[in-house]
Amino acid sequence: MKKQTKLIRTQTQKSQFREHSTPLYLTSSFCFEDAQMGKELFDNTLEGNIYSRFSNPTVQEFVDKVCMLEEAEEGIATATGMAAVFAGFGALLASGDHIVSSKALFGSAHQIITQILPKWGITYTYIDASEPKEAWEAAIFPNTKMIYLETPSNPGLELVDLEMVGDLCKKHNLIFSVDNCFATPLIQTPGQYGADLVIHSATKFFDGQGRVLGGIIVGKKEYIEHVRFFSRQTGPSMSPFNAWVLSKGLETLGLRMDRHCENALKLAQALENIEGIKSVKYPFLPSHPQYNLAKKQMESGGALVTFELEGGFERVIRFTQKLTIPSLTSNLGDSRTTITNPNTTTHAKVAVADKEALGIFEGTMRVSVGLEDIEDLIEDFTQAILNSK
Ligand SMILES: *Cc1c(COP(=O)(O)O)cnc(C)c1O
Repeated sequence: MKKQTKLIRTQTQKSQFREHSTPLYLTSSFCFEDAQMGKELFDNTLEGNIYSRFSNPTVQEFVDKVCMLEEAEEGIATATGMAAVFAGFGALLASGDHIVSSKALFGSAHQIITQILPKWGITYTYIDASEPKEAWEAAIFPNTKMIYLETPSNPGLELVDLEMVGDLCKKHNLIFSVDNCFATPLIQTPGQYGADLVIHSATKFFDGQGRVLGGIIVGKKEYIEHVRFFSRQTGPSMSPFNAWVLSKGLETLGLRMDRHCENALKLAQALENIEGIKSVKYPFLPSHPQYNLAKKQMESGGALVTFELEGGFERVIRFTQKLTIPSLTSNLGDSRTTITNPNTTTHAKVAVADKEALGIFEGTMRVSVGLEDIEDLIEDFTQAILNSK
């Protein structure tokens, strides 16, 4: 069966009530039939649910779907995307280890790598996404344990060559970990390039409607076992209620991503022709410097479009006052178009020189293109840009 069919048809086993829609097991613990069963569940001679910090059938349904999409062996769902990012580091790195990471990261991942991991003696080297293989390889030391990256990056939409990094990880025996949140597994499958771990903020496209927080880390069994131990003991587990919302959300992921990407490409093309815009970044625009790489490793360009307005922050303020449809919010991956000015919001704490290296200027706007009618969106962006001179 194809992924889409499996995504729709993967479901927790029916209960005695013969429900059609998937049940929600909102329970903190599970009963033992007798003391012998309790003993066997705890000494691992019997597999089964004990307590929802360890496992839960509704959460497992969500995990099974994401493992199927990412072609991964096992997974652990977490309360947020950041809990998944941290669990990946916490479970697999030790004092004295070193990570090589792409520089353009989600803000909190940057804070973990630069502020939290160094407290435990874990060091890092940042590499620009578009650097050649030699630069990535030169950053690998004898104590390097992992390469961690996001592609496309936030908000610059720069790409990292997954095949190139996968080859390096194989050659140097490193754990290859990818945050695949921006692309989603329907557009890009890092496991096909050798990724050992794939991480998602389920808060974004998996939910798709801005309702709940969630995260997940999937990958090779040998690594996920360590994440399972870490999660069971430290407790970043996903709530069954959120898992239920997210599992239902995944049923429409394919339909939604098709429309998100179609709308994003059309908006990016339209923006390129509006006076008052310095540049437009979208992986599937031929003007993107890594267009060929995008075509190779992505099925479509994704839902994010970044552009730079002329005229600095004053112009940005006027532009956002004139826009009528998009929501001004730092979240993304919603059925509703969202827009934010990274320079003053998501990346406000980043040093100016670093911001420029990440492609963030005063006039930079990041759009997560939603599912509204694209003609309405183009009309609204056009009038807001022309009327904010
Ligand atoms: C939002 C996001 C995260 C963090 O996810 P939360 O669910 O907000 O904790 C991590 N990585 C990327 C790329 C994101 O967009």
